[in-house]
Amino acid sequence: MLELKRLLSGETESIPFTASLDMAGMSSDIVSGTCAVSGVCRGTPDHIVLSADLKCELTAVCARCCKQFETSLVHSFEFPVAEKLESDEDEDRFVLMQDNALDIEQICSEQLILNLPLRFLCRTGCKGLCPVCGADLNSGACSCGGKRIDPRLEKLKEYFNNK
Ligand SMILES: [Zn+2]
Ligand SMILES: [Zn+2]
Repeated sequence: MLELKRLLSGETESIPFTASLDMAGMSSDIVSGTCAVSGVCRGTPDHIVLSADLKCELTAVCARCCKQFETSLVHSFEFPVAEKLESDEDEDRFVLMQDNALDIEQICSEQLILNLPLRFLCRTGCKGLCPVCGADLNSGACSCGGKRIDPRLEKLKEYFNNK
């Protein structure tokens, strides 16, 4: 927890902080990773703003070829800090203090998860895997040529093979 008492009493106008977040499990595509957070809470007792820069180094799974690869991403955010919310709608626009302190790790984790890419690709234009034989098409055309038997014929073939 980041204590804000010195800001709330006007004793200081800025409290810098750093944190490190474990990214494993933040999405099903993330194998492992670390997010380095550096930020600051600043302002006057009646108006405090939290801003943070997030720098992540992670191992992700490519959505197309399923290979693990290293990648990095950055995200920045800034929110006013409130003691309590006037209405539920404010929840997305403020961060809340608890006992004059902020749960920096939880706030940053939430913001990071909300802003993760929907999918990770190992490279732009990754060709993915052949849907028939499973070969990695980035390393050339596969031997099966990608010819798929009509699913209805497949059923028929199965039927006769089992006879
Ligand atoms: Zn890929
Ligand atoms: Zn193939």
